[in-house]
Amino acid sequence: PPTIGVLALQGDVREHARALEAAGAAVTAVRRPHELERVDGLVIPGGESTTMWRLARTFEMLDPLRKRVEAGMPAYGSCAGMIMLADRIRDGVRDQETVGGLDMTVRRNAFGRQVDSFEADVPLPAMDDPDVPFRAIFIRAPWVEAVGGGVEILGRVDGGEATGRIVAVRQGRLMATAFHPELTGDFRVHRYFADLVRRAMEEE
Ligand code: GLN
Repeated sequence: PPTIGVLALQGDVREHARALEAAGAAVTAVRRPHELERVDGLVIPGGESTTMWRLARTFEMLDPLRKRVEAGMPAYGSCAGMIMLADRIRDGVRDQETVGGLDMTVRRNAFGRQVDSFEADVPLPAMDDPDVPFRAIFIRAPWVEAVGGGVEILGRVDGGEATGRIVAVRQGRLMATAFHPELTGDFRVHRYFADLVRRAMEEE
């Protein structure tokens, strides 16, 4: 099976590890550059992107992460992880940096401060059971405000005020969701990513 790392600087690492194991991957925590070298793909979890960015700097992980993403390592970011994979962010803290790779603009805490967390349906037609919308959990989530031409939109909110907002994307071997599939029992997003990692390994 592919070895998928979960960036374990901060955030809900354990939940992603469990979901990835359910998707048939071997999972390992990644905190240091030498641990990053050993993985076939990487998940960047939800949490707080400003803290994650500061810790990535402290642990000297920003450049290694950028280099592996540029070299074609598959990566999936959820929520704060989506922010980390975005080339451009809005409403970041001063000087906030990202790993980047996904040609998109993401707005932090976009759904408004009154609604800290909520659930909404997100149809994901590219994944298993395309007719069954994903019941997505959003926690102080970002949304995708603009995407470049190479970015495929995997999902938009369907229902409520946020209808139409882009919350799942893919560009080549990179993907991101604004929501937290690791907090549900529905592992379609993790299976989709594990398949992406398997295909990337076959191509190498
Ligand atoms: N608001 C957080 C951030 O800016 C993301 C929240 C989350 O990952 N649940 O990083």
